[in-house]
Amino acid sequence: MNILVCISSVPDTTSPINFTDNNQSFDKNGITFIINPYDEFCLTKAIFIKEKQSATITVLNVGDNTNDSVLRKALAIGADNAVRINQKAENSEIVAKCIVEYCQDKNFDIIFCGRESIDYNGGKVPGFIAEKLNLPFINGCVGLDIKSAVMELKREIDNGHEVCESSFPAVIAGQKGLVEEKDLRIPSMRGIMSARTKSLEVIESAITLEKSIKIIHYEKPIQRSECKMINEDNVEELVDLLNNEAKVI
Ligand SMILES: Cc1cc2nc3c(=O)[nH]c(=O)nc-3n(C[C@H](O)[C@H](O)[C@H](O)COP(=O)(O)OP(=O)(O)OC[C@H]3O[C@@H](n4cnc5c(N)ncnc54)[C@H](O)[C@@H]3O)c2cc1C
Repeated sequence: MNILVCISSVPDTTSPINFTDNNQSFDKNGITFIINPYDEFCLTKAIFIKEKQSATITVLNVGDNTNDSVLRKALAIGADNAVRINQKAENSEIVAKCIVEYCQDKNFDIIFCGRESIDYNGGKVPGFIAEKLNLPFINGCVGLDIKSAVMELKREIDNGHEVCESSFPAVIAGQKGLVEEKDLRIPSMRGIMSARTKSLEVIESAITLEKSIKIIHYEKPIQRSECKMINEDNVEELVDLLNNEAKVI
């Protein structure tokens, strides 16, 4: 089985998020980047498949060399090869276009993507890939079982699950549940050492794309106002604050 796992490099969830250039650019200063958590579920699932039957796992990122560390981590976790397409990953369309071009002659059986990136949250890349490669696309996958010529997939839907079947090849957008959180692989010392000998291929990309969607600016959520603690005996103060400050009564 030939498996591709698309890896987005995203800010650590504890990172302080700030913007520069009049709130038009994300400030990368002081940010630690990690593998997009949804991609980590996919990578672990790919490793489970490999452990059950023979498989080759390639991890792929579209971006600059600051993303090499997440690809190295993916190699340390258990991927066999890593590829970075050297391209300014400025929007979902260009990312998908680069991935599609790379996939053309590779005969991948499964192309795993995360359901969405946890930074830009577009949820667009996997759908674009499937459409451009004319492949089945199963979104929001929380289960996958390979049954010889087909795979059985479980999707999360409102108040339940949908179980479906797909032929190979297909694009799968995975999320939490594809594997359990406790089963996520952490790089072992052996994995980290062996990752140094695995290949990280860098492919230059000449793709250019007219931006169809231009980001005007980013906005931070409104800061929550400070929480005031009031003594339980002081009902009068509470009523006064609700009336005159919060103006809710
Ligand atoms: C100026 C600028 C520079 C940027 N530079 C980078 C960068 O260097 N590296 C980077 O990773 N992002 C970068 N980004 C973010 C990049 O634009 C997004 O990754 C891209 O737009 C996809 O976002 P999305 O939210 O639509 O992805 P979604 O569609 O939500 O992502 C779903 C899945 O698609 C796959 N995917 C998404 N993005 C990538 C990717 N870049 N490579 C491989 N698989 C991917 C992953 O499996 C991900 O889980 C940059 C953004 C801007 C504005």
